[in-house]
Amino acid sequence: MTSTALPTTDDLRARARTALDTIGVEVAEGGDFSARTPLTGENLFGLTAATDAEDAIAASRTAFLTWRTTPAPRRGELVRRLGELLREHKSDLADLVTIEAGKIRSEALGEIQEMIDICDFAVGLSRQLYGRTIASERPGHRLAETWHPLGVVGVISAFNFPAAVWSWNTAVALVCGDTVIWKPSEFTPLISLACDHLLARAADEVGAPRDVHRLLLGDRAVGEKLVDDPRVALVSATGSTRMGRELGPRVAARFGRSLLELGGNNAAIVAPSADLDLAVQGIVFAAAGTAGQRCTTLRRLIVHRDIADTLVERLTAAYGRLPIGSPFEDTTLVGPLISPAALDTMNGALTRVQAQGGKILAGGNRRLAEAAPAAAYVEPVLVRVDAQTDVVREETFAPILYVLTYDTLEEAIALHNDVPQGLSSSIFTRDQREAEIFLSAAGSDCGIANVNIGTSGAEIGGAFGGEKDTGGGRESGSDAWKAYMRSATNTINYSSGLSLAQGVSFL
Ligand code: NAD
Repeated sequence: MTSTALPTTDDLRARARTALDTIGVEVAEGGDFSARTPLTGENLFGLTAATDAEDAIAASRTAFLTWRTTPAPRRGELVRRLGELLREHKSDLADLVTIEAGKIRSEALGEIQEMIDICDFAVGLSRQLYGRTIASERPGHRLAETWHPLGVVGVISAFNFPAAVWSWNTAVALVCGDTVIWKPSEFTPLISLACDHLLARAADEVGAPRDVHRLLLGDRAVGEKLVDDPRVALVSATGSTRMGRELGPRVAARFGRSLLELGGNNAAIVAPSADLDLAVQGIVFAAAGTAGQRCTTLRRLIVHRDIADTLVERLTAAYGRLPIGSPFEDTTLVGPLISPAALDTMNGALTRVQAQGGKILAGGNRRLAEAAPAAAYVEPVLVRVDAQTDVVREETFAPILYVLTYDTLEEAIALHNDVPQGLSSSIFTRDQREAEIFLSAAGSDCGIANVNIGTSGAEIGGAFGGEKDTGGGRESGSDAWKAYMRSATNTINYSSGLSLAQGVSFL
């Protein structure tokens, strides 16, 4: 594994300033909320953060009262303009994603592309918020389902998709007639300021109320204000299962709605008929891409015993060639972990798995520690394990891939599903029966199930989310929009008599 040279913190600070200036964001520097970069692990600026949740909630609620009656296609105009601004500033926004989240250039550009795509989707959706007409059992009656805006939506997001997750929620919520308050990750304030600025600009240009969107920078205490306030109709929270476990019951206690997108522990089954060239490529991207810091990262590989040695040999060779280092270098494929604490967690998992009989086959060494002592660069790791022990059943948010073997497909599916999480899954096979069994009700128990492609890199057109400890939420495409609206059932009597349902007679 080779290492590429790192930029200095001064270089990164200058690059961040240039990106912010080009986008037009005025950053109030000097406060005690820090923007930092995982590329060097050092601080970039002190920021003055807007943390007044009360003010944001009140303003957002007032804006909702206007926004909810604005015709949906006109609400779509705001999102169309946002999409245009994202296109115009794609490169600068991607710079901020790389600087704050450590993504390599093509993945950072991909994140902004995903935002543009969801804007396009939401604009179309603004003319398709369909309800149904239902056959009434009574003559002269019409039964209908109508969808209405829900209210203020609180969006709490994670560091690893610092902008795209916001856009999945916000583009859809806005066309649905909701207003949004965003509490982003503590790690990514600059990209959040940039997104908020572009949406405010779009709102000014199309004449939408400014307060359709509010940004609150801050730690979890700021998020908790959204969680507990009954004026926030929906809390859409993306992050760890620990966070969801704390937040979900609090929102439920006030009968609010929550949409939870939590941790994954994603697996791929590799069957004897698999195209191994394709599988190796798909596995390495899914397991080592984004330095193992995607919710859909491939964490468990369940390989048929007959091909396990061959596949492991090929993966070991591929892992040995992964360039690690500055995500701004075109040749780099693996950037830094978000923080030294993430590296400690990864090392803790590796110590535990070895004590439980696991054998490290490749990787695991820290890199660039001398050049950037406060950063956390590490080689993605392949670990062979005999059993799915407790550490394998946990999500460790780092590039560790555990390799297990199986003899029958039934055994592979049982291993696959025997974890608390249920986000993404895949099977590599050329046997159609195996593929269909994996996709069937008796197959993968995840919200995402793929064939001959890895677990990560979903398109926005499908609904995104997972089951069990992943929280059950669905965002982005398909009919995920329904989570952002409330439905009403209408019975309209256009006859001249009153007939009661179920044949009831009264008076
Ligand atoms: P995290 O849980 O530490 O933080 C996520 C967000 O929640 C942050 O904004 C944080 O301030 C806030 N938060 C934390 N505790 C809170 C509380 N009690 N009340 C209110 N807000 C609270 O997660 P992270 O380290 O930023 O992100 C990594 C995790 O996110 C991984 O587990 C990953 O799988 C998950 N993730 C899931 C998805 C998905 O769609 N399922 C997508 C991206 C990331």
